[in-house]
Amino acid sequence: MPNSTNKTTSFTYIRNLTCSDCGKEYASDAINTYCPDCQAPLLANYDLAQLRQILKPAQIAARPRGMWRWHELLPVQRQSNCVTLGEGDSALLKLPHFSQRFGIPNLLLKDESNNPSGSFKARGISAAISKAKELGVTKVIIPATGYAGQTLAVYAARAGMQCCIFAPKTSPAAALEESRLAGAEIVLVDGLISEAAGLAGEKARAEGWFDLSTFKEPYRLEGKKIIGYELAEALNWTLPDVIIYPTGGGAGLVGLWKAFDELEALGWLKTTKRPRLVAVQAKGCAPIVKAARNHASFCDFWTNGRTIASGLCAPKSFADQLILRDLYESQGTAVAVSDEAILSTQRLLSEADGIFPSLEGAATLAALIKLIQQKWIQPAEQVVLFNTGAGLKDIAAAFAACPAWTPG
Ligand SMILES: *Cc1c(COP(=O)(O)O)cnc(C)c1O
Ligand SMILES: [Zn+2]
Repeated sequence: MPNSTNKTTSFTYIRNLTCSDCGKEYASDAINTYCPDCQAPLLANYDLAQLRQILKPAQIAARPRGMWRWHELLPVQRQSNCVTLGEGDSALLKLPHFSQRFGIPNLLLKDESNNPSGSFKARGISAAISKAKELGVTKVIIPATGYAGQTLAVYAARAGMQCCIFAPKTSPAAALEESRLAGAEIVLVDGLISEAAGLAGEKARAEGWFDLSTFKEPYRLEGKKIIGYELAEALNWTLPDVIIYPTGGGAGLVGLWKAFDELEALGWLKTTKRPRLVAVQAKGCAPIVKAARNHASFCDFWTNGRTIASGLCAPKSFADQLILRDLYESQGTAVAVSDEAILSTQRLLSEADGIFPSLEGAATLAALIKLIQQKWIQPAEQVVLFNTGAGLKDIAAAFAACPAWTPG
């Protein structure tokens, strides 16, 4: 955990929250969730003009590794409230063999699988739990297909909070087991994530639990946006041509774009060129892809969504309007890939370059192959993929896809 080197500076430069729809202001030093008037997410604002004067990238680079070295741009007032398990500063890797095979030499993969609990969810949950702790929250609840739940469970344990998870029965066993070991109360739901969300919301209102559903509180986004800061820093304050992101609730995608906006205001970027964002979804649950095809400003609810990539099973994101707005603004696109393509690229990446990606991460490679074939991506372009989680979490799906092989 870095110390602020200068005693006269603040740990955070957060100013307030604003509704992403009506613009109404909300305080960042009180518990806030989303705008009740618009049913829309709240976004955190920082004093970027002041930070531009007093904070330089070299200061951040000199601090100990991890997400919290960017603390001025995160929401926590007091360092002692940070709940950390060492999240952030994931590797940015070349994929030499995969690149060669598909004729795309400037390909990079940001590998989030080494985060605590094995996924990039750690970033957002670390930020949100820290801020919740600062504001006196003691009981947290979440509907989750697995990844978000297990991550919340471990951070809640770390923070000494009670944790409750509403999980569809079909959630990956590894995720449920990690949650159980961390002491979370798990309620298995005979239904989809949307049903789990409804039940969790009811319990939250009845018993006073704080709901950490994606975008229903403002700070998971803040942790996730740091992937954009790390990426720009690693590319020496330039940005790639294309970013391909596996999109469920959309915090990763919206967080990247928010980071680029903030970096521009801080004056740290050497370029004004922005990447084209690609949202990847699974064919069995692709509300963003469908909306983007019609250039719609919001998504319809996707009924009976199904995919083996559980992190992508989001039938309607609470932030659908933000996701679509950022996609259009970036001149980007949305791509749906089949479960078969996801499984085959999972194996391809393991074989080619020694990375065993989560199914969601593998989906970005499947989308890349499609977009190269469609010539939407040119061979010389710099493309960044995100492996959002570790493949081991999906081991049951990997076995099922290869029944001829018996382990042990
Ligand atoms: C949650 C999750 C996603 C989707 O991320 P969003 O930011 O909610 O769009 C992708 N991959 C993995 C491994 C996840 O756990
Ligand atoms: Zn509003």
